[in-house]
Order: sequence, then structure tokens, then C-alpha cells
Amino acid sequence: MPGKKALMLLSGGLDSTIVLGLLKQQGVEVEAVHFTSLFCTCGGKEGGCGTAMKAAKQLDVKLHVVRKGDDYIELIKKPAHGYGSNMNPCIDCRIYSFKKAREVMDKIGASFIVTGEVLGQRPMSQRMDAMRLIEKEAGMEGLVVRPLSAQHLPESIPEKEGWVDRSKFLGISGRGRKEQIKLAEELNIKDYPCPAGGCLLTDPGFAVRLKDLLAHNKEASGRDLSLLKYGRRFRLSDDVLLLVGRNEGENGILETLRTGNEVLMGVKDVPGPNSLLLGKLTAEDVLFAASVTARFADVEDRSKPVKVWYKNGDGKEHAIEATCAEEKDYLAFRV
Ligand code: SF4
Repeated sequence: MPGKKALMLLSGGLDSTIVLGLLKQQGVEVEAVHFTSLFCTCGGKEGGCGTAMKAAKQLDVKLHVVRKGDDYIELIKKPAHGYGSNMNPCIDCRIYSFKKAREVMDKIGASFIVTGEVLGQRPMSQRMDAMRLIEKEAGMEGLVVRPLSAQHLPESIPEKEGWVDRSKFLGISGRGRKEQIKLAEELNIKDYPCPAGGCLLTDPGFAVRLKDLLAHNKEASGRDLSLLKYGRRFRLSDDVLLLVGRNEGENGILETLRTGNEVLMGVKDVPGPNSLLLGKLTAEDVLFAASVTARFADVEDRSKPVKVWYKNGDGKEHAIEATCAEEKDYLAFRV
């Protein structure tokens, strides 16, 4: 194959991994790029998804990891092409990724990008018209190769020029995975635990919390968005939020994430959650948060007051007495 280098967009899911295998099989020189964001759900840390790293290693391909940064947070708040069925701005997200991929492509001297996209697999971004629009707005017209659906799509420049062999590409469409699984077996690709790359923005529960956040805080930061992932969430007022840890891991995270005058609290002497109280707080908010925190602790007699410790900005530990909240009293605030 004539020497034009490709850049593969590698999620670590089945589709992109087998496409990488197909390129290697054709002898195409290829490197890969993987995007991380705080919305990844496939065990992806900010340092990169283990599955993508494993796939790149398995296929002996150099991997570049790009973190979607603050510009991505701004995009989520106001996507030019709107949201999908939840808070997933898939079209703008793909334009963003293609633009970032273009930067990597130029840096490494690659001539085109390759994706594992399948026509009709995702309702918002993988329709023919959306694919065209994304390519155009990202300034990548004709430079995107999609080997899994190539036979349904117009020829790209790399296919016309013979940088890749289009005749060996496929004509898959729709949401089924049968053909991809068969292909993975043929290519001896075994590990693909993250079927299509998970994204919290497509999760209905997460979408409700994100909408609530943006309705109350148009300037929400990356940290505000990260906090959407942790704890039972209660909006006590326009300005005040209470997060109650659901497990030990979240208790630790809430403790680590507390800054400034935010209040961290827990019940004294019995196992229970850590809670984080944020915003312009009143004494009433602190007392109510203490009673909700007590409600989720292993308190034996819920009719009696318990001691709740809390730390605020002064660095000292304080204590108050609170009675476990009734379910009906806090459910109204649940987000
Ligand atoms: S599902 Fe999430 S990561 Fe994938 S295109 Fe949509 S917004 Fe982007």
C-alpha cells in the first residue's frame, strides 16, 4: 500500500478495534487517538481508557490520548446542533473530536482519519446527512474513512487514491453487532469489554441532573459537572446543593472534592455517608442536611436525635444534633 499514514479514532470498543485490525491487515501505516472526558463510563480515567490502551497494544499501534477540556464543557452547555434524546450533543461532539483529531493528524504527519462508525448505528451522529455535516464543519471533507460502512458511503479521497483498499471494506449498517463479532474472531481480536464506548451524557438520570445544574448555574465549571457523578443529589434551593455519598468510594471522593467554605458532614460514632453541602448556606440548610445525612446512616433508633459532625471553611470540626429526616421531607428535593 502506498505510504500515507492514517490516524484511527480509537474508543476501545468493538467497532474501532476491528477497524484498526483491518487497517493493519492491509499494511496501512496507522497511529491511533483516544479521547477521554469526565463523562466516559467504560472505566475511563482522565489518563485514558484501559480498553483503548489494550487494543492499541494488542495491535502494536502508537496511541495518543487527548483529554476533552474546558472548551468541551462549554460545547455541552450550548451545542449548536442541539442534544440527542438526553443531554448528548453528539453532532457537536463529533465535530469537536474530528477537529482535535485533525490537530493530531497534522502533528504526526498523517493524511486522513479512520473511524469505526457504522451507518445507522447511532440515531443522531451516524446518519448519512449528519456524517456529511460533521465532516464539513470539522474541515475534514473527503478525509474520513469509515471501513465498516464504506460500501454504503461515497468514496473518500484515501479510497479514491488507493491509500486504503476500499474493496476489502464492508457494508454494515444498523445497530446489530453480529458481523463485527464474526470479524473480530477472524482478526483474532478478543478483548472488547466496552461495546461502543460509554457516555454519561446519554444516561437519562445524568441528563436530569445536568439540566438542573445548567438551569441554576449557567457558568457551571468542569468541577460542577464532575460533581454530578457522585452521591444522592438534593437541590435545597436555587443556590444550595446537598450530595450524600452512596458508598465508601463516594464518601472519599466527596471528602477530597470539598473546597473553601463548603461543608462536609457525617454522623458521629455510627457508619454512614459523608455529605457535601454547597452554595450560599444558611444555618437551616446545615441542620436539614444533617438530618438527611443521619437518615442514611446506620442509626438504630431513628426517633432519637444523633450527633452529626461537620467541617466548614474554618478547618475545625463542629457538632450539631439532628433527628433523621422523614422520606417525604427530603424526596421533594431529590434531583
Ligand atoms: S455518545 Fe457521548 S461521546 Fe459519543 S458522540 Fe455522543 S456525546 Fe459524544
